[in-house]
Amino acid sequence: MEPISPLEQALHAARALVLADLVAGQAAEADVVSLVEDSVVQRRWWVQQWPDGAEYVAGLIAQDVQDALLDRYGRWPLCPVCGHGDPHALDVEPELGPDPHWVCHKAGVKVAAIGSLGSCAGGPSAS
Ligand SMILES: [Zn+2]
Repeated sequence: MEPISPLEQALHAARALVLADLVAGQAAEADVVSLVEDSVVQRRWWVQQWPDGAEYVAGLIAQDVQDALLDRYGRWPLCPVCGHGDPHALDVEPELGPDPHWVCHKAGVKVAAIGSLGSCAGGPSAS
């Protein structure tokens, strides 16, 4: 077995984070998972051209999947913060940078890090 390269590790980590958010939103159907795989393939090529972008791939894959889902299924992930008004999707911020988060531009808040939507998508806390 060859050692896993740092780029491959970054891609694996990014894939796991985006899948975790899909599971949190109960959107992890088989064909949705294949959208993630498609994005990982594209971003593997991209990060091989630009290795310094390795820490950006989670945010990029999240945005790829978000775009692909919008075409086929609709908005994802829906904002868990705003309890009223039109349902709206969260945005990834920064679009191209390290440490990407989901943000709600309506409420102007950071909702969760990519991969951590499950910690806030369970509705109001029971406290
Ligand atoms: Zn919102």
